[in-house]
Amino acid sequence: MSADFRIFKRPSMLMGMPRPPLPSLLALVVALATPALAQEMHPYRPGIDVLDYALVIDLPDTGSFIRGDATLTVKRIARVDSLVLDLRKLTVQRVTLDDRTRRFVRTDSTIAIRLPRGDTGHFRVRILYSGRVTDGLIARRDSAKRWTYFGDNWPNRARFWIPSVDHPSDKATVTWTVRGPRGRLVIANGTLVETRTTGRGRRARTTTRWREARPIPPYLMVIGAGPLTKVDLGETACGLSSMRRCVNQSVYVFPEVKKNMPGNFAKAGDIVRFFASKVGPFPYEKLAHVQSATRYGGMENATAIFYADNLFKRNTLGEGIIAHETAHQWFGDAVTEREWPHVWLSEGFATYFGALWTQQAHGDSAFKAEMSRIRTEILGDTTAPVTRPVIDTITTELLELLNTNSYQKGGFVLHMLRSELGDTLFFSAVRDYYRNHEHSTALTADLQQAFETAAGRNLGTYFDQWLRRPGYPEVEVTWSDSALTSLSIGVTQSQRFGYFEFPLKMSLVAPNGDVRRVQISVPAQADTRVLLPVTGSVERIDIDPDIQLLARITVRKL
Ligand SMILES: [Zn+2]
Repeated sequence: MSADFRIFKRPSMLMGMPRPPLPSLLALVVALATPALAQEMHPYRPGIDVLDYALVIDLPDTGSFIRGDATLTVKRIARVDSLVLDLRKLTVQRVTLDDRTRRFVRTDSTIAIRLPRGDTGHFRVRILYSGRVTDGLIARRDSAKRWTYFGDNWPNRARFWIPSVDHPSDKATVTWTVRGPRGRLVIANGTLVETRTTGRGRRARTTTRWREARPIPPYLMVIGAGPLTKVDLGETACGLSSMRRCVNQSVYVFPEVKKNMPGNFAKAGDIVRFFASKVGPFPYEKLAHVQSATRYGGMENATAIFYADNLFKRNTLGEGIIAHETAHQWFGDAVTEREWPHVWLSEGFATYFGALWTQQAHGDSAFKAEMSRIRTEILGDTTAPVTRPVIDTITTELLELLNTNSYQKGGFVLHMLRSELGDTLFFSAVRDYYRNHEHSTALTADLQQAFETAAGRNLGTYFDQWLRRPGYPEVEVTWSDSALTSLSIGVTQSQRFGYFEFPLKMSLVAPNGDVRRVQISVPAQADTRVLLPVTGSVERIDIDPDIQLLARITVRKL
């Protein structure tokens, strides 16, 4: 695949900065000793479930001053006496609860609103606010000096412009009503409901309304507004959409690059069709691909994927990034990680399904090359993630979760499961997991359960060693065929990350080129020795010829 692989949801502002220091040995010991912690996180806002956001945003002709009018439909599910919403910096003018003005307590980052006594009930909370946005909604002039506005919320920057329960555990539907000067096209989540222009001349204002009818987390709730032009990709994946017959896809770009379209987006239809056939029908109303101001290479906002501006300007947008972000519509968007330490359920899946698209479109050797590259990136990473498990309950800086653990290692863990269970069981488990959590949230234990049901056996050791412990096996394989009737193979594991159990596949290559495949089960111990019966001599052995094991392996003939 392409070099785009490295830039999916990677904060460009962190590139080139010094690597963070390795955590202390103590932190590593704690991480090893408390695997159960991952399942015991506290709810973000206990007792509160936001069901719907109706967001009205007034964009200025120039500059970053916005006016907001947000109505949240909130359900109370336990005894709490106040509603705390995230909203940073902006000025709150007024709050109403079921149409009555309410007093509220404002801090720099939250609004607290008193609720009537009780432990149930639905409330309609309206917040009128305004101010200069400093993050979340990126207001800036493009190179042609035109003002543009793009939401870029991951991981918790929705709170810079949307009063919200800003956490992936609380998903909600959203209606966007965006007002701005005529001529500025507005794209957002869901279906286009209406576009209406009032006034004349320079004072003409256009109101655009979009409605996302499926619940999504705040980090995916976005608008894009600017001198965008739409390139229709037509109806795709017909019969494989959950909301209509087909999936309508389009590209929104600045006029200067329209001549390069559709480029690799010509494959967007096949990509959606492929994932829908493997996982389940496309979960949303439409899919737009948008040239934007996201700080990431690509950001998987539900139904409106935002890509970095420069990929369009340099015309370097590869199909790998399209496949990755499209896979997120199922994994991350429709099934959302309930807690941040489980973000691999989003990024590991998108990484692996990007590789599966490579296999589908370019064949087995391209797929093997991609898995080999992914493995090399894991083994080559000497930064902090190597000392931490994929399910990382220690890291509090969320941007640091965009690392080789969440992406490459998460993807390779899925690859090893597929190699071990076979395609039928693997995709059956993925489909069950997806169907059971679509438009909801999940933790790693939910995925484990789906795989255990499909496989008919306990996979606790597998999930623990690959996801709840750091690292990977470091293995030296030694072999000798002094007698022509047997081959002696030794497998020695280093103690660096502890011992792993895994199947070890190898090809025995005879001097005449004949190849024989064998597999041995390596238990979680320092030394394993097996004697394989052979006929004739063996010239060389190739370990893991199909790239199905995450391990650092050296081979030595005795
Ligand atoms: Zn991603």
